[in-house]
Amino acid sequence: MTVQPLEISLGLLAAALVYQGLSQRWRQHRLERWLQQGADKAAPELWGRQARLAERIERALRERERQARDEQQRLAQFLDALEVHPNGLLLLDPQDQVRWFNTAAAQHLGLDPARDQLQNLRNLVRAPIFVALLSGGRDSDQAQFAWNHRQLLVLSRRFGLQSPNPMTLLVTQDVTERTQLERMRRDFVANVSHEVRSPLTVIAGFVETLQTLALTPKEQQHALGLMRQQTDRMQALVADLLTLARLENTPAASLSEAWVDLRALLERCHQHAEVADQGHHALPIRGLETAAGWSLKGQESDWHSALSNLLGNAVRYTPAGGTVELHWTPPDASGWASIAVRDNGIGIAAEHLPRLTERFYRVDASRSRDTGGTGLGLAIVKHVLQQHGAELAIESEPGRGSCFTLRLPLSCLRRTEA
Ligand code: ADP
Repeated sequence: MTVQPLEISLGLLAAALVYQGLSQRWRQHRLERWLQQGADKAAPELWGRQARLAERIERALRERERQARDEQQRLAQFLDALEVHPNGLLLLDPQDQVRWFNTAAAQHLGLDPARDQLQNLRNLVRAPIFVALLSGGRDSDQAQFAWNHRQLLVLSRRFGLQSPNPMTLLVTQDVTERTQLERMRRDFVANVSHEVRSPLTVIAGFVETLQTLALTPKEQQHALGLMRQQTDRMQALVADLLTLARLENTPAASLSEAWVDLRALLERCHQHAEVADQGHHALPIRGLETAAGWSLKGQESDWHSALSNLLGNAVRYTPAGGTVELHWTPPDASGWASIAVRDNGIGIAAEHLPRLTERFYRVDASRSRDTGGTGLGLAIVKHVLQQHGAELAIESEPGRGSCFTLRLPLSCLRRTEA
């Protein structure tokens, strides 16, 4: 039997078709296996339609991976930026569970990043105002409260309200310092008003008396004398307030390069105290010889004001017959010099010492006023010292006396002669 060329051709065609069918199935199978394995590795070697398909899939996947990496990087940068934000930021889910917070929020609210994720925030921060804020029980979306020895201001904002899981963003701010400053400003205004009101009331009373009653010349003189005392008191108060304002508004860096002769300054302040004291106390001055040749950096009026305040206080709070000593000590090995004002007067109980330099802080308000005190003297001293990098040290014992020491660093001293 002879095989016809047509039959051969048909046979070859059939074989080719079978081969093509098998080859296509084999490539299809490799492509599917590659896809099933996640297409992480490079595509298998293919040809024809499957090769084109694999290449397109591979390109799309790599593009998607690149986009995901970029987005992840952007998210990480964004989270890093939120991390260093000075305000506390905290995300809560609809159940008030903590989802994320930055370092500032952890510090403000006392949270532990490892322990407190997914905890209900109401159980962690139990301040009633804060809990009311979280439950929407307040008219405002912000609240200020004391927590962890700080004053916190917390703002709460819900977002994603259209989504099934609306979240809450909390912004926390430490306003301790601002609150203290506001309280100090309020106290200061109240104190000044109070200090001015009392003498004004006395003067107004005398004015009315002088207007309505026919006083004898002696009585008139007496009333005018008392009015004078009150105006003096107000003048002293205003002078001290202006000094304080000037000191507070002069930044230390802008201090002029003025120098004061130390010995002359000590002598002037001492003389001034003696004249004011009119011989009621012993007022020795010590170390004056070693003060020669030293100059003190700053304005003469500032140092004069500081020393006169200390000497004035020592005299006012030491009964007549007592001793008030002014004592200069040149720089020691540690580089600090000192000017001390020591008295053997009434002294101050230890609990008052840390607050003495606060404006209007007085141990005994009526004694201070009766002796012409404004309650601002030591605040002025503190400011003068601060501006020159110097310090005030106070030692005192009730009934035995006090010692106020100006500790002066070498930076505010200059040796002018040997
Ligand atoms: P004041 O004008 O009241 O004296 P200061 O600021 O100078 O104001 O002093 C504050 C308070 O410190 C005084 O009211 C007084 O109670 C107390 N004080 C200051 N210096 C002395 C001192 N040398 N001895 C006893 N108490 C003093």
